[in-house]
Amino acid sequence: MIDQDAPSRESLCARLDTRAAWDAVIVGGGATGLGIALELAMRGLRVALLEREDFAKGTSSRATKLLHGGVRYLAQGNLALVREALAERSTVIGNAPHLAQPLEFLIPLYGLCGRVRDRAFYGAGLHLYDFLAGRRNIGHARFVGPAQVREMSPGIKHEGLAGALAYWDGQFDDARLALALARTAIAEGACALNHFEVVALLREGEQVRGVVAQDRESGRRHEIRARCVINATGVWVDTLRRLDDTDSRSIVAPSQGVHLVVDREFHPGKRAILVPRTSDGRVLFIVPWMGKTILGTTDTPRADVPAEPAAFEDEIDFILRETANRLARAPTRTDVRSIWVGLRPLVRPAGDDVASQRVSREHTVLVARSGLVSVTGGKWTTYRAMAHDVVEHCVSAGLIDPGRPADTAKRSLIGAPGGDASGGAGVADAPGPHLYGADAAELDSLPGSNRAIAPGLSEAMVRFAVRREYARSVEDVLARRSRLLFLDAEAAAAVADDVASVMASELEPGFSPEASATAFRALARGYRLTDRDGSRR
Ligand SMILES: Cc1cc2nc3c(=O)[nH]c(=O)nc-3n(C[C@H](O)[C@H](O)[C@H](O)COP(=O)(O)OP(=O)(O)OC[C@H]3O[C@@H](n4cnc5c(N)ncnc54)[C@H](O)[C@@H]3O)c2cc1C
Repeated sequence: MIDQDAPSRESLCARLDTRAAWDAVIVGGGATGLGIALELAMRGLRVALLEREDFAKGTSSRATKLLHGGVRYLAQGNLALVREALAERSTVIGNAPHLAQPLEFLIPLYGLCGRVRDRAFYGAGLHLYDFLAGRRNIGHARFVGPAQVREMSPGIKHEGLAGALAYWDGQFDDARLALALARTAIAEGACALNHFEVVALLREGEQVRGVVAQDRESGRRHEIRARCVINATGVWVDTLRRLDDTDSRSIVAPSQGVHLVVDREFHPGKRAILVPRTSDGRVLFIVPWMGKTILGTTDTPRADVPAEPAAFEDEIDFILRETANRLARAPTRTDVRSIWVGLRPLVRPAGDDVASQRVSREHTVLVARSGLVSVTGGKWTTYRAMAHDVVEHCVSAGLIDPGRPADTAKRSLIGAPGGDASGGAGVADAPGPHLYGADAAELDSLPGSNRAIAPGLSEAMVRFAVRREYARSVEDVLARRSRLLFLDAEAAAAVADDVASVMASELEPGFSPEASATAFRALARGYRLTDRDGSRR
């Protein structure tokens, strides 16, 4: 699917001004808000979505990149959640095969305990996992002997290895999937704008009937009237709720998760490793992604919700220590190419103070007396089912009409190739044109298609990011259209000027390449654990 007639940001802004009233305005352009925008647009409703930073700038670009039912939620006995997520896993893979693929995981077993007790325990759980996936399953669990494990995953620690349980889940590029969702929603008629902040709510009597939003580029304020306002702001959900009702209780319990990225040589091969029980009872993933290896994550309750949260030292130590227990060659701080931190919007149980690992990953939808609809929780894997649930709540509350039938499960996202255009490469492999699916042909036709700015990033990709993917800053390009910031922060900082000057030739005179590159370099410092010479950042 290619969107030949994608509207520019300017024409989307003009639409905001010319339309007197909308059926719905969505606040927040992460997985949740974008999923809702797509469903509403497919139903034929007039919908605007406003994101104050960039699409997926919040939690939705900082996931572990897994499409999963959640092996660990099995242990919590939440079978309905696991079953739904397993079905959604295959829907996402089907609708965006260039950005999401199946991935085989190994649960390594060590010693006599591993050979007997863990094999029986985790084996039973994984068979249940396969069973719950039913006909949507993407691969079967099996036991693998130690020699084969060493072949499948050469970086794994050998001493005491008694084999592994192998099973299948999915992995994806979260930020690019969000962009594909934004573009698809726009192609279906939605007006989705990034760098557009909602600063106030409009009322008619007691009812919320729209928002005041500020274009962060022009500084202009717009009054946008709508029958329904949907608050999909993730961990920031309470801020908007309190603009509606200063006394509203908090519905989110943010929990921080840290990821470290190291070179592929520490974990060669195409399989991921799941450590199901770390020394303090958590789980740890070691995942091949974009030619590197992701290590993570943590689960640390956090009271504040900064846009760029920083890792705590003990979280970094925890990840490196646990990784050292599983890999033959343990990475150290100086091997870390990038560190990124996300905040999970976990649903806060009413009145309870529960450790975040046990707080539900399920979502919650609340319709306030004023009509403001707030949603939070869930996970990337289930964004589509969650969006459907939100829309159904809005219809039941009489805030919007049901519109025409729309089956988002069958809607391929923009860029999805008709056949296999990837040449067999996926998101586990080094980045390149395969991530663009059907859009790869257009990349070839743009100036600079043969000029590499960095590995996996061509001049044409920067042009495409501006022309088709609504990139407005160097950060938009290097953090979310290309994932270089998340893969190698120092390498990303080194190409900021080059990216900025290509962008300047695409954008209107108001764009300042120097300011954009300087701001990006400052940001990239926060994604570096040490300098190349080993000194602390
Ligand atoms: C460490 C970590 C690992 C994870 N791993 C996985 C995984 O492997 N698989 C999986 O399925 N899920 C995973 N998740 C969960 C998943 O990433 C989240 O559930 C999902 O991204 C939440 O999306 P969201 O749209 O609700 O929130 P966000 O992505 O945070 O979007 C909310 C948006 O609202 C915007 N906003 C806020 N206020 C305003 C305003 N006033 N005006 C306009 N915009 C505003 C913000 O800028 C933000 O972009 C992980 C989460 C974390 C933290």
